[in-house]
Amino acid sequence: MQFEVLATCHTTKARVSRMKLAHGVTMLPTFMPVATQAAIKGLTAQQVEALGVTLILNNTYHLNLRPGIQVLKDVGGAHKFQGWNHNLLTDSGGFQLVSLSKFTKITEEGALFASPFTGEPTMLTPEESISIQHAIGADIIMQLDDVVSSLTTGPRVAEAMARSVRWLDRCIEFHANAGRKDVQNLFAIVQGGLDPVLRDECLDEMIKRRDGVAGYAIGGLSGGEAKDTFWRIVKQCADKLPFDRPRYVMGVGFAEDLLVCAALGVDMADCVFPTRTARFGVALTFNGPLNLKLSKHATELGPIDDRCPCPTCRDGVSRAMLHHIVTLETVAAHAVTQHNITFQARVMGGARDAILQGTFPTYLRTFFANYFGEDGYPEWCVNALRSVGVDLLEGKPEAKVVQGDGAKWEYSDAS
Ligand SMILES: [Zn+2]
Repeated sequence: MQFEVLATCHTTKARVSRMKLAHGVTMLPTFMPVATQAAIKGLTAQQVEALGVTLILNNTYHLNLRPGIQVLKDVGGAHKFQGWNHNLLTDSGGFQLVSLSKFTKITEEGALFASPFTGEPTMLTPEESISIQHAIGADIIMQLDDVVSSLTTGPRVAEAMARSVRWLDRCIEFHANAGRKDVQNLFAIVQGGLDPVLRDECLDEMIKRRDGVAGYAIGGLSGGEAKDTFWRIVKQCADKLPFDRPRYVMGVGFAEDLLVCAALGVDMADCVFPTRTARFGVALTFNGPLNLKLSKHATELGPIDDRCPCPTCRDGVSRAMLHHIVTLETVAAHAVTQHNITFQARVMGGARDAILQGTFPTYLRTFFANYFGEDGYPEWCVNALRSVGVDLLEGKPEAKVVQGDGAKWEYSDAS
């Protein structure tokens, strides 16, 4: 990996970086669409490429089950298997083991789970996770970590953090011995739950191991914790992580979360949200999400967003048409997914341009005013951005501030 910070924001901690991997250059900060089963739901690899996306995520757990490692090895890796010529990141498989299997038991050796095929006890060790990711061949691979929900409290959080450090050592050693270090880039995952002391300890230990890792992820968040806690942990981690390594917050995809994280110094994020919500009929826009199922869209002849360059908006597909077919015809999922991936790319591309031009604080104020202005600014976003010198409420004495996560949704009036 070649990683170079090209510009930093004069006010916030945001930066623009160029990350060169074996399958090309990805500019950061960026949002990574999730292709769980080696396919972005609703789009071909060529369509994803045509949207300008250069980095997507595959799930190791799912690819290991189906098609299985032998098929991936025989075909020459997941890039070839899915016809994707750009950069690819795989997770370690640990998160799905814990979230999908109620029988998973964590031991020092690894995660013991019941095989979904035979029910036999099967062990995923840190070495095995890296070995599977070698067969998949992603440009960025993740360490196996001991994952606990962000809502877990007590000694289990400290145990999981310390074990994640020990498992990182095993991943680093296995990866180095396999001779894949120059082709595939291993990321560490900072754990420690919502406890700043544990996070700090984990950061110290993982930063000591920087020679063995190409980048760092901030894990264990986006699991239902209070957003005001979420951003403080992200900030703590981003502030301490090495400047010369990419920083990745896992499981983040709402536009406001992406921009707050970028302002705190985060470079990468992933989430199934924009593609999943598209299939449920929600189009993302700079004025907030639009629920196309609502009957008010039945007679709207304009596109989702007339300034959007995505194929759906560019070809003038009307909101009335999308309302007519959304959640009923697969082509609607396809049309709205292209739009939503483009929206995420515009949010992050706009952030990169603004950081380069020295106008990122203005970009943030404009985005939040358009997105939340009428309904009220989420208090956690106001607090988070104030911590890096941007006051969303500056010059807006009438502005409304709302508690909670602030996600703004139009609920369906259709059955
Ligand atoms: Zn569009």
